[in-house]
Amino acid sequence: QQDPRLAGIASAIRVIPDFPKAGIMFQDITTLLLDVKAFRDTIDLFVDRYKDKGISVVAGIEARGFIFGPPIALAIGAKFVPLRKPKKLPGEVISEEYSLEYGTDKIEMHVGAVQAGERALIVDDLIATGGTLNAAIRLLERVGVEVHECACLMELPELKGRDRLGDKPLFVLVQSS
Ligand code: AMP
Repeated sequence: QQDPRLAGIASAIRVIPDFPKAGIMFQDITTLLLDVKAFRDTIDLFVDRYKDKGISVVAGIEARGFIFGPPIALAIGAKFVPLRKPKKLPGEVISEEYSLEYGTDKIEMHVGAVQAGERALIVDDLIATGGTLNAAIRLLERVGVEVHECACLMELPELKGRDRLGDKPLFVLVQSS
């Protein structure tokens, strides 16, 4: 039995075809943020799942993981750590590279933001190929953090991003084609 809140969340996400380039169906979560009930339901569903799981870190991926990660972190009593695009964080960083359709990209985290032995939840708005979440998992595991799970609002199952996460569980609220 599907949670009745999920239909409202799915319909609050707007799809914009051919953005940022031809052929991409862009899943725009800014319309969900305008819908107070859908936004609150989104956070509540994640909080219900992750409270009392011993999670001490919510790691949010730039940029839309910075919208959903912090309210979850506060509600479950965890700290929030931003995983950022290169050259954005001012302190000393460690980074992980991942491949894009053309070329590579990187995500970075401040040294000292997390300690070995901590338990983390990774949050982003969407998983497509899984390359970004795969790099985030590697980044946290490199410093001895245990990744409890990855959480996204949306999955594009056709791209099989889930397969790139190894044995790490992925939890999503809605799937899209
Ligand atoms: P990937 O690394 O391929 O799983 O891509 C995931 C990242 O790219 C996330 O941070 C998403 O916000 C963004 N992204 C990829 N595809 C889309 C899409 N169709 N709509 C919105 N965001 C996307």
